[in-house]
Amino acid sequence: MPYDYQLLIKNIFNAPIYFDPNQEIVYRGEKRFTYATFKRRVHKLAHMLTSLGVKAGDTVAVMDYDSHRYLECYFAVPMIGAVLHTINIRLSPEQILYTIDHAEDDVLLCHADFLPILEQIKGRMDVDKIVLLSDDGTLPQTHVPLVGEYENLLEGNSDFYFFPEFSENTRATTFYTTGTTGMPKGVYFTHRQLVLHTLGTLATLGSSPTQNFKQYDVYMPITPMFHVHAWGLPYVATMLGVKQVYPGRYVPDLLLELIVKEKVTFSHCVPTIMHMLFNAPKINDVDLKGWKVIIGGAALPKAMCQEALRRGIDMFTGYGMSETCPILTLAQLTPEMLLLDDVAQSEIRTKTGRPMGLVEIRVVDEQMNPLPQDGVSTGEIVVRSPWLTQGYFKDQKNSEALWQGSYLHTGDMANMDERGYIKITDRVKDIIKVGGEWVSSLELEDIINQHPSVKEVAVIGIHDDRWGERPLALVVVDVPKKDEQSEKSILSHAKEFIKKGIMARESMLLKIQFVESIDKTSVGKIDKKSLRQKYGA
Ligand code: AMP
Repeated sequence: MPYDYQLLIKNIFNAPIYFDPNQEIVYRGEKRFTYATFKRRVHKLAHMLTSLGVKAGDTVAVMDYDSHRYLECYFAVPMIGAVLHTINIRLSPEQILYTIDHAEDDVLLCHADFLPILEQIKGRMDVDKIVLLSDDGTLPQTHVPLVGEYENLLEGNSDFYFFPEFSENTRATTFYTTGTTGMPKGVYFTHRQLVLHTLGTLATLGSSPTQNFKQYDVYMPITPMFHVHAWGLPYVATMLGVKQVYPGRYVPDLLLELIVKEKVTFSHCVPTIMHMLFNAPKINDVDLKGWKVIIGGAALPKAMCQEALRRGIDMFTGYGMSETCPILTLAQLTPEMLLLDDVAQSEIRTKTGRPMGLVEIRVVDEQMNPLPQDGVSTGEIVVRSPWLTQGYFKDQKNSEALWQGSYLHTGDMANMDERGYIKITDRVKDIIKVGGEWVSSLELEDIINQHPSVKEVAVIGIHDDRWGERPLALVVVDVPKKDEQSEKSILSHAKEFIKKGIMARESMLLKIQFVESIDKTSVGKIDKKSLRQKYGA
C-alpha cells in the first residue's frame, strides 16, 4: 500500500539540515539548546501535556514572551492533535477571559509576569490546569492555582513520544484578532495550512537572490509569537534548521545586543518596533550591516527604509493579516533594482510587494471586477491561497462577510503595477473622502514622515462641513520644535509633494496637530479607531 503522507507539523522536522548537531536555539542569550535537545524537549512536553489530560481536539493556551518554550509548544501541542491557542498578552483581562472561554481552553501555560492578569479573572475562567512558565524556576506568590512549573513538569518524562498520524486538515492553531468593532474574533489554521505556508514562504524567500532567508542565516523574531505564529517564520526557521534566537520581552538594548552577539541575520517586525530600535540609546554603538528585516503589519515608511539602508540593513516589506496565516506578499528586489540608489530602492522596498507562490491576489472594484494593473487604479485586495482561515471561529455572520464571492476580503485598498507590485493605500475604513475624492492616509503619512523634525505621524479623516472630511496629521516632534514655525515647515514640505502631483490636490486641506504620543493597538500598530474617537470631531 502506498503511504498517504499527510502535511503534518511533525513532518517539519524531516529536513536534512535539522541533524546538524551544532545548531542552537537561544533564549535571551542566557539559555542554549541544541536542536537535538529541542527535539527531546518537544517529546517530553507531549508527555507532560497528555499526563495533564490533554487529548486530541483539546485546546492548550499559552501566555508567554518570545521563548524557546513557546517554540516547543508550536510543535508539541499540534503534534499530539491538540490546538494551540496563542493568547494576546496585551489584551485587557476581560478580553483575555473572553478569548479563553471562546476558544474553550483546557490547559493554560502562563509566564510568571502574567499571573496578575489571571488573578483578576481566576474565579470566572473555566481552565483549572495552569502551568507556570518561569525564567528562573522560582514560584511567585500567587492565588492562581498552579499544577506545577514547566521545567519541573518536563523533567522525568520520556524523551520519546509516539506522535500519531491524523488528517492534515486537523485544526492546529487558533488566536484572536481585535477588529475595529466588537469582541476579538478567532481565526484558525490546520496542519496542512501551516505546512503549506512554511513551504510557500521558504520557496519565495529561499529562491530569491536578495531579501532572502536561507540555511546558515541566524533568525530572531521581533513580532510576538502570540500574533499569527510570529508570521509563521519559526516554522520556516526550524525547517531550515537555522540558529534561532528568542529575545523574551522586547527590551531595545537587549534586542540590539542579541543581534550583535548572536550574529542575527534575519528578523521581522512592525514599524513601531523598528522605530523603537532606531531610537534606542545603543543604536549608534552597533553595526547592523547585513541584517535582513521584513517590515510588515503596517506600511513601511520611506524615511525608515532609507535610514535602514544607510545603516546597511536590508529592509523590505511583507504583507499579510491574522486571517491569512499571514504572509501574502513580499517586496523583494530584482538584481537590476539593486543597482539603483537608496532613494529609488526605497520606493520599491516600501511597496506592499508581489504575491508569494500559491497566492492569488486581485485588486477589485465594488462589483469584484479586477482593476487594470496600472499602478493607479485602486480597489480592494481580495485573495485566495491554501493558507487562509476558513472563517471566524463560531461566527457564521462575519465568516460569510469575510469570504464573500469565495475570495477572502482583506479590507485593504491598493493598486497593482504592471510588474505585479501591490501598493496598499489604506484600510477601507481609514481612507479619507475629501469632497468625494479619496485621499490616502498612508501616502500622506509617508510624505510627512520624511520631514526631518517628524518623529512619528498618523493621519486620520476629521469632519468638515464643506468637504465632508479633511485630513488631520497628528505629529510627534522633538519638544523644542513644537511651534508655529515647524507647523508651517511641515505643511509646506507636504504641499511640495502635493503640488508635484504625487498626492491628490484635496490633500491640500491637510491640518497639523502636535501630540505627545500616538495611540497603538495591542500589536503595536497605529490605532486609528482610537485616534478618530479622540480627535475626529
Ligand atoms: P493584523 O491582522 O493585525 O495582522 O492586521 C492586518 C492588517 O495590517 C492588514 O489588513 C493591513 O491593513 C495591515 N498591513 C499589514 N501589512 C501591511 C503592509 N505591508 N502595508 C500596509 N498595511 C499592512
